Amino acid sequence: MNALERLFRKIFLVDILTGLAVTLRYYFSKKVTVPYPEKVLPPPERFRGILRLCRNDQGEPLCIACKACQRACGQGCFDIEGKREEGAKAMKPVKFDWRLDRCSFCGLCVEVCPTAAIRFSREFRLSTLDRRELAFSHEEMYLEGESLQNRLCGACRP
Ligand code: SF4
Ligand code: SF4
Repeated sequence: MNALERLFRKIFLVDILTGLAVTLRYYFSKKVTVPYPEKVLPPPERFRGILRLCRNDQGEPLCIACKACQRACGQGCFDIEGKREEGAKAMKPVKFDWRLDRCSFCGLCVEVCPTAAIRFSREFRLSTLDRRELAFSHEEMYLEGESLQNRLCGACRP
């Protein structure tokens, strides 16, 4: 660019107008972002979110306290104890502690579970201010949606 060309660009504010044109083009084009956290987009179908325990259609817990997930987990995330009620066919967990802060989301526990009781949810909002909030008890393993968020972020919300 020679001196005359530079002078021309300065006098007619060519660089500023070029920048403004880019800004205006993006301002009026279709938005690709959302105002998070007011709006939350669902993650992809195969996303691995926080692990949750599941119930059957009758609302009965699927977990039979076989401890296969505990044996498969290399991170020591589980602490499970089971008990068979008198006359019952299968055991039920009386203790099912799970540590999110140790989990690497490898999926081994999900693969070995014989009843599909433990599955990845699609919940990706896992922030908390207190590491102790990342330890879940049996009943807390069934929480989802806003109940789960209140459990996780109770301490960090105004
Ligand atoms: S996903 Fe992997 S690390 Fe996490 S609890 Fe399951 S087996 Fe353990
Ligand atoms: S979640 Fe599945 S693998 Fe783990 S104890 Fe329950 S039934 Fe067994």
